[in-house]
Amino acid sequence: MNQEPLDLVITRGRVHTPEGFSTLNIGVRGGKIVALTDDANTPPALRTIDAGGLDVLPGLWHVHCHFREPGHTYKEDFTSGTTAAAAGGITFCIDMTNNDPHPTTLESFMLKRETIAPKALVDYALYGGGLYPKTVAALAEAGAIGIKVFNTRHVKEVYPYISELGVVDHGILHELYEAVADKGLLCAVHHDDSEWCKRLTFRDYINPGKTSNRDYMEAYERGYMYGHGMAAGLAASIYYARLTGVRLHVLHMGVMPPGANELVRQAKAQGQDISGEMESATLFMTRAQAEKVGPGAYAWAYAPESHWAAVHDGTADMLVGEHAPHTLEEITPGWKDNFSVPLGITGAQEFIPLVLNAVNAGKLTLQDVARLCAEAPAKRFGQYPKKGRIQCGADADFTIVDMKQKQTFTVADMHTKAGYTAWEGIQTTGMPVYTVVRGETVMDHGQIVGTPGHGQFHPGIGASA
Ligand SMILES: [Zn+2]
Repeated sequence: MNQEPLDLVITRGRVHTPEGFSTLNIGVRGGKIVALTDDANTPPALRTIDAGGLDVLPGLWHVHCHFREPGHTYKEDFTSGTTAAAAGGITFCIDMTNNDPHPTTLESFMLKRETIAPKALVDYALYGGGLYPKTVAALAEAGAIGIKVFNTRHVKEVYPYISELGVVDHGILHELYEAVADKGLLCAVHHDDSEWCKRLTFRDYINPGKTSNRDYMEAYERGYMYGHGMAAGLAASIYYARLTGVRLHVLHMGVMPPGANELVRQAKAQGQDISGEMESATLFMTRAQAEKVGPGAYAWAYAPESHWAAVHDGTADMLVGEHAPHTLEEITPGWKDNFSVPLGITGAQEFIPLVLNAVNAGKLTLQDVARLCAEAPAKRFGQYPKKGRIQCGADADFTIVDMKQKQTFTVADMHTKAGYTAWEGIQTTGMPVYTVVRGETVMDHGQIVGTPGHGQFHPGIGASA
């Protein structure tokens, strides 16, 4: 055994994997896990984290971040976004593509990579933007973790903010699937049937002047906004994905009505290569909280039983807490006209505390969290076994949690630039107390101790060497 001291040892923690947990010391050297052992066999170390009484999870992932860089850095940037993530116990983020310029070509993807490289506190990967079938191969070779497609156009073209990013032509969608399938990447899709949504929403809400936040909430609950159109779009997409053999990743499970869960469940039962991420706001956001924050939330838990069932039976492969910040100035007019403002919710910092609260409420186990928020995304996005599990040889990424610590979300504690949190005033039990990325402590009991630039880019499986 190497007799050099370890860089770090994490002692006496309950160490969790999807199979269970055991009390172990974890030795780290050179950013990697090099020992999982008991006290008697633990070499000396330069630094120690005493995790007695704490639970040690593999570094947790957040696979649905909109960190707004380049182009909209007044809402968020890669430093503020990854700081929020680190504060919330996240060690790995995947960033979305509705930037300006959008990363849909080799040049704009590389510009984004270079712009954000000095700015991240935690590790990250980037979706390539799915718009031009002919640029998909170059995006894959440049390291895109997958290709994100906005198969949607908001009823008033408010979303995806960059109108031309919407791919509502199923022929182009099909060609994108062919190109993505060629490179073996995941194609992650925000599904919709935009014309259906637009026609009915205008007919029953916008034209009669029913546009307030409460009207929007009604339209959402009836499946007009972010509803049945998304599920119908998903049905078509599953069919085209099967024709082309693309590995489909379904975004916004939970935001879509329960029928969408059934479509994913059936496709899985038939052996299709499909995965999905469950939006945790649709598990946790109460109607009262949604009414309180108004346009600060676009989704809430109106059908949580169906969505929990999809989590528990494996229909949803992973959990997310969408982080899509805007400024208060942008969303406040939504109290009167919610159909004309960008739809915002914050989640990078709030996601894991909410999930841990659900563990304390008996909805999940910590083994489930290790699976849903680390191992499953690491495997699906091709980063396993380098990441996703506590085992020798893996990157030393850890989220260490105190399952007894209570907290209340307040704007003052938030690192996002948004100036609000959709979870304002919500109390939770269970908090991340250390975020460790490749052996470096980035967050210690709520204090950010990492530096921008520590976070590394991780390319997808289509990257050229
Ligand atoms: Zn999103």
